[in-house]
Amino acid sequence: MDRARVSWRDRYPDEVTCVRCLEVYDQMMLDRLLWCDGCRRRARARASWWGWLGGVAFGLVLAAYVWLVIKPSDLVIGGWTATVVAGMWIGSKVARELVYGGMRFTNARAVEAVPPTTSDPGSASSDPGSTSPDPDDLE
Ligand SMILES: [Zn+2]
Repeated sequence: MDRARVSWRDRYPDEVTCVRCLEVYDQMMLDRLLWCDGCRRRARARASWWGWLGGVAFGLVLAAYVWLVIKPSDLVIGGWTATVVAGMWIGSKVARELVYGGMRFTNARAVEAVPPTTSDPGSASSDPGSTSPDPDDLE
């Protein structure tokens, strides 16, 4: 371990474009897949939303199965209700991880991402009026 401080970040310049929202960030803001903090948060929130949807759907299927196939008596219906609720809870967690993992795996940009107009190599579009003062380009 002679080069302990070498990390994957060394491969990238200081300013990196987030692959998801296409905004440029300091590389410390991005993770290994080049997702910025905001994108990870939004993906997490979206995944948990889909996770709950998946959990509820799973719970409904489970409830239908218990109701139609197992046909519980009134005596044990509470236990089955708890089973369905637990199934929904676990199903939502599983679905959330699946959705989030799927988002990370496909690594596509977010639907709300706007591609920068300056990325076209043929047209160097100069933006009039934006002098973009950069205070930290001088030591
Ligand atoms: Zn981003």
